Amino acid sequence: MIEKDLIGRGIYNERVLYAFSKVPREEFVPPQYKHLAYEDYPLPIGEGQTISQPYMVAIMLQEMHLKGDEKVLEVGAGSGYVVALLAEICREVWGIERIASLAEQARERLQKLGYTNAHIIIGDGSKGLPEQAPFDAILVSAAGRRVPPALWEQLAEGGRLIIPLENEYSQILTVIEKKEGKMRKREAGPCLFVPLIEEE
Ligand code: SAH
Repeated sequence: MIEKDLIGRGIYNERVLYAFSKVPREEFVPPQYKHLAYEDYPLPIGEGQTISQPYMVAIMLQEMHLKGDEKVLEVGAGSGYVVALLAEICREVWGIERIASLAEQARERLQKLGYTNAHIIIGDGSKGLPEQAPFDAILVSAAGRRVPPALWEQLAEGGRLIIPLENEYSQILTVIEKKEGKMRKREAGPCLFVPLIEEE
């Protein structure tokens, strides 16, 4: 998978490739899908949700430009797979998942695999995690109609926020940077994610 679907399609960041080489994706999918764990597509994880496609995750991680000392947030932790990848290549990771059963399974997996710098919180990730902010990078693993204001506020100066943004027709992976408090936005191609649920 790493050779063919990641390097072969333009993923070059050494830290990102290292993370993929370390984290066993088969531990994050239901038993009946283990034989498909290293195919490059999303797979069902229960509750109508999916573990994301590896190539898309790799693009998002590459866009985060991580060096190793960051504190990061993932919104929509699902299976916990991306939290584990992040835990390999940055200092501290916080993942938020709104579906409690998924969050609990993710927690168990991360514990079993021995990650001590990764934490899963149950809740609405569109509100971020003010008590742990600011974050050097934020990854949103579900498609939103806008950049949730709380996430923008909780992004550190110089930080990057990666989010799939959707309109009626499509979803675009969007890279947002905070430079001197101002928003810089760049589109990084089409993508397909489950919806980000913003609770009122
Ligand atoms: N990174 C995960 C992706 C799971 S799919 C993985 O690879 O396993 C996206 C997840 O986002 C779903 O589990 C869904 O329940 C969750 N989600 C959607 N809206 C959310 C919100 N507002 N807060 C937290 N999680 C949310």
